[in-house]
Amino acid sequence: MTGPRATAVAVLGSTNMDLVAFVATAPRRGETVAGREFRTLPGGKGANQAVAAARAGGRVAMIGAVGDDPFAPRLRAALADAGVDTTGLRTVPGASGTAHIVVDDEGGNSIVVVPGANSTVTGLATGDEERIAAADALLTQLELPVEGVLAGVRAARAHGVRTVLTPAPAQPLPPELLALTDLLVPNEHEAAVLTGVAEPLAAARALLALVPEVVITLGAAGSLYAARDAEPVSVPAVPVRAVDSTAAGDTFVGALAVAVGEGRPVPRAMAWAAGAAALAVSRPGASASMPNRAEIDTLFR
Ligand code: ADP
Repeated sequence: MTGPRATAVAVLGSTNMDLVAFVATAPRRGETVAGREFRTLPGGKGANQAVAAARAGGRVAMIGAVGDDPFAPRLRAALADAGVDTTGLRTVPGASGTAHIVVDDEGGNSIVVVPGANSTVTGLATGDEERIAAADALLTQLELPVEGVLAGVRAARAHGVRTVLTPAPAQPLPPELLALTDLLVPNEHEAAVLTGVAEPLAAARALLALVPEVVITLGAAGSLYAARDAEPVSVPAVPVRAVDSTAAGDTFVGALAVAVGEGRPVPRAMAWAAGAAALAVSRPGASASMPNRAEIDTLFR
């Protein structure tokens, strides 16, 4: 690659097979609706962020686990095909993680995640600390046991590696995890759960009491940056026709980490990441929809 040195990214997170039903309107409780189409698509917030970062030009190592079921080889191959190093992706007995997703005609989704193999990642395995130490940033989310996430961010902090946490699925966070987080990237809903404050700017200010830097993603309304030593900055989304918003946030975070690692100021990195996420939203699939670096750059010419 020409230009800046590739950002090294370690991702400690989930790898799931997405089992996706496409419907006109999602069913309400007790209701059965006819779906239009069914697809199995490699996903999981961790693997999605890893693929997004790799497509965006990062040198990415995945840390996590898959099962020994028929989904596992396809999950591993999807990461490897994107250029992600899967040496840190363990194989454990039992089922891989699965996500049961309903996507409606407006591109909205609802999701049930069954953790499977991801639930075995309660700490670091041989080589994981070295993978983290070699990175510019460690990306984590909350689809692994929190003990596993904590082990990763402790290692990152010990080696001076920037920690980026996506607090999803939304849940209260242990104080130690927040204390070890450099950049928190919640969506609007997750920010509200963490703070009890619905308004994004007020939520961002409340989060700065817990972490030094925050990016709140706001769907089609873009994203908001807040840091302890700067005025908040609002960054617009790139307008597109939404087809499938499944991995919007993960695409955004993967691209953001790469751009920040190249030395771009966070608000500029957010604008570039918004381009990556918009392209992903405009096409079906989770990791399958993620753009490569050249496609993202095309939006900014
Ligand atoms: P999550 O997928 O975690 O819920 P968001 O929905 O906030 O995250 O989306 C993350 C980012 O993806 C947004 O900040 C925005 O840049 C982009 N994005 C999401 N939805 C759209 C959309 N409909 N059109 C354009 N960009 C979008």
